[in-house]
Amino acid sequence: MRRLFIADLHLHPARPEHSCALIDFCQQRINVDDELYILGDLFEAWIGDDVGVITYADVIACLKNLTDSGTKVYFMAGNRDFLVGQKFSQSTGVQILPDPTVVNFDGQNVLLMHGDTLCTDDISYQDFRLLVRDPTWQHNFLAMSPALRMQQAAHYRQQSQAMTAIKSNDIMDVNLDTVTQVMNQHQVSLLIHGHTHRPKVHHLDSGERIVLGDWGGHFDYLSWPQGEAWHLIREPI
Ligand code: MN
Repeated sequence: MRRLFIADLHLHPARPEHSCALIDFCQQRINVDDELYILGDLFEAWIGDDVGVITYADVIACLKNLTDSGTKVYFMAGNRDFLVGQKFSQSTGVQILPDPTVVNFDGQNVLLMHGDTLCTDDISYQDFRLLVRDPTWQHNFLAMSPALRMQQAAHYRQQSQAMTAIKSNDIMDVNLDTVTQVMNQHQVSLLIHGHTHRPKVHHLDSGERIVLGDWGGHFDYLSWPQGEAWHLIREPI
């Protein structure tokens, strides 16, 4: 049995090759007794389950096949697919995890996060996050027509791209004091997250921080066989 961790695939209907890569990965690399942890931004945009399960029908079917075969699949929301909800869970058999979540693997407590909450230097993003994670905002957003939601999501994406272009790389990376604080708070010496698209194992005073990669042309994942050491893996698609 292995636990496999992926994040930041940013699947989009305009890039069907990315969805195909995930489907190949699920069919060829995942065994029935494995566990798959998806740590956010699986989808480039998710404007509600009513639209998402149709837009991403191929991905939904792929995840459903996995869970039907007996593979446990977990999903934690990212900053792009935070509106993934119960209908997604029911349609796929995937269990939704809150961010952060502490799991116990081989007797070791491990902290799982998407990673955006660690980027505390990016104050404008953290303000935006507070707004869109507010239940009232979400309720009002989901009450709008799909067309209006799409329009608003496109507007937010444009704004985000414009801001990203002028923000420094440091601002958009994690804040190391925040990392230490969060690891201490949860009493863990291992943190696994995505979001920054900077795959690497960082050795810290507080332990180790594994950053998952996005899938730009490769399968980027962490494999952790039960009772063995974990490996960060990059393979050509
Ligand atoms: Mn992200």
